Amino acid sequence: MKNPVYTFEKLKFASFEFTCCEGCQLQFANREASLEAFFSLLDVRTFREISSEKHDDYDIAFVEGSISRSDEIERLLAIRRQAKTLVAFGTCACFGGVNSLKNCHSMDECIAEVYPGLPVETLPIRKISDFVKVDLSIPGCPVAKKEVERIVVSLVTGSLATLPKYPVCVECKEQLNTCLFDLGEICLGPITRAGCDAVCTTGKTPCLGCRGPADDINFPAFLELVGERGLNRSDLKEKLGFYNAFEAYPCQ
Ligand code: SF4
Ligand code: SF4
Ligand code: SF4
Repeated sequence: MKNPVYTFEKLKFASFEFTCCEGCQLQFANREASLEAFFSLLDVRTFREISSEKHDDYDIAFVEGSISRSDEIERLLAIRRQAKTLVAFGTCACFGGVNSLKNCHSMDECIAEVYPGLPVETLPIRKISDFVKVDLSIPGCPVAKKEVERIVVSLVTGSLATLPKYPVCVECKEQLNTCLFDLGEICLGPITRAGCDAVCTTGKTPCLGCRGPADDINFPAFLELVGERGLNRSDLKEKLGFYNAFEAYPCQ
C-alpha cells in the first residue's frame, strides 16, 4: 500500500526578538532529528538568527522577549499590523519573564547600576499583551521544542493549538520523582502549567513557574500547603515573582 500524500500550505512565518536572551528562538534549531521536517512546514520570511533575508509579507509572527523601551512598542505595533496571527513566544513575551526583576527597583537605580554615566532609555518591563492582541501564547524559559512542533503542526493543519491545562506535578509524578515538598523545599509545580516534562523537578530543582498558572488552580490551597509545612513565606514570594508569571496571584 502506498503512503498517503498530504498537501498543506506552508506558514508565512517571521520571528522577532525584543528584550530577552534569545534562548527561545534558539529552540527552533533544537531537536535535529525533526529539524528538516519542522522547517518544511515554514516559509521563513524574516528570522534574523538564521537568515540575513528580510521580507515583510509574513502571516504569522512569533514574538520573543518583553518590552523595555519606547522604540520596541512602535516595532511591536507594526508587527501586529502585519501579522494575521501573533504568537507570544516564551516566558518573557508571555509574562515579562526574568527581566521583570528590574521592576523591583526604580529605573534611575537600574541605569546607575548597569549603565553608569550613559544616557540610556529604559522602561519598566511589560509583557507584550499589555500593548497588542496576542492570538496564542507558548510559555517556557525556554519554550519546549516538542511543544512548539506540535503547535506549528496545529497551525499548518488549521486544528486547535492547545497547551496542557494540568499542572507540572502530573508530569513530575509520571517521572516517579520524590516530591520536593517532602524534602523541605517550596516548589511551584502544583500551580504551574505542565508541558516541560517537569524538567527542573526531575533534576531535583524546584519549579519556579516559568510556564505560568495552570487552568483552575487552587491558589489558597497551595498557600495552605506551604503554611502547613512551615516553609518560608519570603522564599515563596521570591519564587512567585521570579518570572512575573503569577502577577494575578499575589501572596501577602
Ligand atoms: S523566556 Fe527565557 S529563554 Fe526565552 S528569551 Fe526569555 S529569558 Fe530567554
Ligand atoms: S516536586 Fe514539585 S512538581 Fe513534583 S510533585 Fe512535588 S510539588 Fe509537584
Ligand atoms: S519545571 Fe517549572 S520552572 Fe522548570 S521548566 Fe517546567 S514550568 Fe518551568
